[in-house]
Amino acid sequence: MNAEIIAVGSELLLGQITNTNAQYLSKQLAEIGIDVYVHTVVGDNEKRLANSLELAAERADIVILTGGLGPTKDDLTKETAAAFCGRTLVHDEKALQSITDFFEKRKRPMTPNNKKQALVIEGSTVLTNHTGMAPGMLLETEKCTLVLMPGPPREMQPMFELELKPRLLDGSGTAITSRVLRYFGIGESQLETDLEDLIDAQINPTIAPLAGNGEVKLRLTVKHTDADEAERMLDETEQLIQKRVGEFFYGYGEIGLMEQLAIQLKRAGQSISAAESFTAGMFTAGLTSYKGASEIFSGGLTAYSSEVKENMLQVSKETIRQSGVVSEACAMEMAENVRKLFSSDIGVSFTGVAGPDPQEGKEPGTAYIGIAGFKEEVLVFPLSLSGNRQAIRERAIKYSCFYLLNE
Ligand code: ATP
Ligand code: MG
Repeated sequence: MNAEIIAVGSELLLGQITNTNAQYLSKQLAEIGIDVYVHTVVGDNEKRLANSLELAAERADIVILTGGLGPTKDDLTKETAAAFCGRTLVHDEKALQSITDFFEKRKRPMTPNNKKQALVIEGSTVLTNHTGMAPGMLLETEKCTLVLMPGPPREMQPMFELELKPRLLDGSGTAITSRVLRYFGIGESQLETDLEDLIDAQINPTIAPLAGNGEVKLRLTVKHTDADEAERMLDETEQLIQKRVGEFFYGYGEIGLMEQLAIQLKRAGQSISAAESFTAGMFTAGLTSYKGASEIFSGGLTAYSSEVKENMLQVSKETIRQSGVVSEACAMEMAENVRKLFSSDIGVSFTGVAGPDPQEGKEPGTAYIGIAGFKEEVLVFPLSLSGNRQAIRERAIKYSCFYLLNE
C-alpha cells in the first residue's frame, strides 16, 4: 500500500509556513507500513490543484490532502475534490450542529461562510474534527482512496490519530507494533548492504533504516492481531539482524548513547570521572544532563593546556616531550590519573585535534580516548574523525560512550 500527500496552500509556496503536515503524515504512515512516494505542494488554485489530484490518483493507492477546508473563499479543496470525483457537496448534520453550538455558546453571530465548513462530499465517511470546526473526509473513488484533512496541525494531527489511522488499519483488529534498534560505528549504507536480503525479503515485520547524527537506527514494524505473537515475530527478526551487525548495536527506542551509558553505569553501580582536553567538558555536560547523575559521576577536569595536563593531572613531562599531548600515552595517563584524582571506578580521557589547523604535526580529527578501570591496563582507542570542530568533538563523545558501553 502506498500514499501521496498533497499539501494545499499558497502560504506554503511563498515560504511563509513550513510543510510540517507532510513530515508528520509521512512519519506516521511509515510506522503503519504505508509507503509515501510523493509529496506535492500546490497553491490555492483550483486548476492546479485538480491537476495535482489527477496525477496523484493515477499513481497512489491513497491520496491525502491537507489544507483549504476552512470557511474562506481561498479554501477550495473540497470543491475541487468533489468535482474531481463527480460528486456534490452536502451538509453534514453533525458538523453543522457543532458549528452552530460553537457560535451559540460564544454568543457570536454565525456567518454563512461558517456554514460552508459543514459541507462534505456526498458519500464520504466524515472524520470528526476534535479540535476545530472543519470536518475531514475519507472516500473511495474509482482510482484511489481520497482523504481530506484541515491544514492547521493542531486539528490535522488528532484527526489522523483518532479518525484516520484506525480506519487505515482496516478495522479488522489489526494493530501495529514497532521496535527501534540503535547502532553506532557503522554507516547507513554499510548497514543496509549487510542486511539487504533481509530488508528485501521482510514484509511483516518490515525493516526500515533511518540515519541521523552519526547514528543509524532500524525500525522493525509488525502488523498483527495478537501482541504476544508480535513480540515473538520481532524477536525472531531482531535475532537475524543481530547475527550480522550485532557488534554495532547499543540500545533500543529513543534512548541515545549518552543516556544509555548513564543507565548502564547506574545498573552496574559504577562511578566515572572525565579528563577532557579538546572536548573541554562536553562529556561532563552530556552525562550530567540526566537525573541521578550524582550516583554515577564523580567529577570532570578540563585539561586544555599542556600545563594543566602536567600540573593537575600529573601527565609526565617525558610523555609530553616524547609523544606530545595528542597521543596514546597521554590519553592513557590522563584516564588513569583522573580516575585516581576523583576516586572513581572508571576514568575516561579525551585528547585530540579539533582543527581546523594541525597540532603537533597531527591532522585535525586525530583523537585518542582513554578508558581506565575496566581492565588491568588502560585501554586507548585511536580515532580519525572528519568534519568541522564541533562535529569532530561531538563524534569523539559518541565514540567514547560506545566504547564505554561495550567494555
Ligand atoms: P482554516 O479553517 O484554519 O482556514 P484550512 O483547512 O482551510 O484551515 P489552510 O487555510 O490551508 O487550512 O491553513 C490554515 C493554517 O494551517 C495555515 O495558516 C498554517 O498555519 C497551517 N497549515 C496549513 N497547511 C499546513 C502544512 N502543510 N503544514 C503545516 N501547517 C499548515
Ligand atoms: Mg483556510
